[in-house]
Amino acid sequence: MIWALQIFFLSNSYETMKTREVSRIASVISRAYQQEDDNLSNSIQELSVNNDFYILMESRSGYLFFAPESESRLPVYTYMSHAPQLKSLLENSHGLPVSFKFNNGMEKYSTLAYGCVLNSSPGSEIYLYIFSPLYPVTSTVNILKNQLLYVTFITLLLAFVLAIYFATRISKPLKSITATAKEMGKGNYNVKFEGNSYSEINRLAATLNTASYELGMADNRQKDLIANVSHDLKTPLTMIRSYAEMIRDLSGDIPEKRNAHLKVIMDESDRLSQLVSDLTSVSAMQTHRIALEKDYFDLTEAAASILASYDILIERDGYSFEFNAQKDCLVYADETRIKQVIANLTTNAIKYCGDDKLILVTLRKIGRKCRFEVSDHGPGIKPEEIPHVWDRYYKTSSNYVRPTEGTGLGLSIVKEILTLHHANYGVNSKVGKGSVFWFELDIARKEREKTPREPRDRTKEIPQDPALIEEIVDGKESESE
Ligand code: ADP
Repeated sequence: MIWALQIFFLSNSYETMKTREVSRIASVISRAYQQEDDNLSNSIQELSVNNDFYILMESRSGYLFFAPESESRLPVYTYMSHAPQLKSLLENSHGLPVSFKFNNGMEKYSTLAYGCVLNSSPGSEIYLYIFSPLYPVTSTVNILKNQLLYVTFITLLLAFVLAIYFATRISKPLKSITATAKEMGKGNYNVKFEGNSYSEINRLAATLNTASYELGMADNRQKDLIANVSHDLKTPLTMIRSYAEMIRDLSGDIPEKRNAHLKVIMDESDRLSQLVSDLTSVSAMQTHRIALEKDYFDLTEAAASILASYDILIERDGYSFEFNAQKDCLVYADETRIKQVIANLTTNAIKYCGDDKLILVTLRKIGRKCRFEVSDHGPGIKPEEIPHVWDRYYKTSSNYVRPTEGTGLGLSIVKEILTLHHANYGVNSKVGKGSVFWFELDIARKEREKTPREPRDRTKEIPQDPALIEEIVDGKESESE
């Protein structure tokens, strides 16, 4: 732009500027004349000096000259020769100012001639002529060209150097991040993304590091799950097969033994169903395919009905339950799903309870909420592991000693269901002291008339079968027995 403006348009804009300046000075003089300024000739002289204009005033009595410098009066006489031309143009211009460009032959440059009428009363006409030399801009343009060449060259060089510098600084870490990402794409999650001093790239590297860590964790959990699920599937299947063989070969004709063996087969089938139903629930929730069927129901009653299914554990294995509940905790939720939550949390409390085998279940109203809590005095969960227990396939490190007891899906199902209900939930736990898992549901304001609906057959999703619960608690050892 500078090139274009300076080189191509400089002389045009110089002439336009001069014409504007001349007409401005003419109107200043005209105003001073109208106001009958006593100091008029001094003012005109000053304007001539300040602006480098040759000014001529023509009246009946003759001419008045004003030149920028006294010794340069001579040109005024040369300019005077153009006065008649200006005068004749003015006589035909109907009071408007006139101007033209001429070259007097003596100079290399043109001159701008401008004329206007100061007094148009017949007999006492006064004309004002202003001559402004239009000095050639070629030399200026040449100087500018030279300077611009230097400026352009230096600018380009600087831009080039800076571009290379920034490109290298930015692209180098990006290249290394891309290479690391490719490495990660091959399944190596132990990679480290390096940033540099740019905060954006650092943030990208940090985000990718977190992503690779999370992917690595998920990958490990998935591998664990496959190992666990395969194990969990294999054990009951082996048992079913062995007991079926035993019935065929040995106990088929002895009703007592046969019934006992059949019971094992049925229990193992239930265990398999439980596992498959857990996996189905998780997959349905992952793809948001489940729709809640909300209705009004009493949370206390729902909890009581779930806890009743654990009675066999009280009788046979010395577990004790303490159930403290306020009555009439009416909520508006999906009863079957909430029962699944209660069952999962209670089953966990049994699985991870302490030597006292005591499980405390409380239900109380806090403000507009109904809070369900299940506590145990078991090993507890390390603070750094607490946020992860809700993740799919997650098992706390202390749990690896009993790797086949769970799928690591129970709490993720709880989380999904409670999130769908927009319910608060959490866990308070201290290592060696025990854990309290809780959730809160809004208390329903007014009960609507319950419309009797077909109960859904989701019994398989909830471990209500005492035998099944027994299996979960007894663990592997009892299975082998
Ligand atoms: P799992 O089938 O392994 O029990 P969950 O999703 O139900 O899977 O639980 C995830 C992990 O959280 C468990 O493996 C266990 O380590 C931990 N956990 C759950 N409930 C308790 C509890 N009451 N006490 C201690 N740890 C628990």
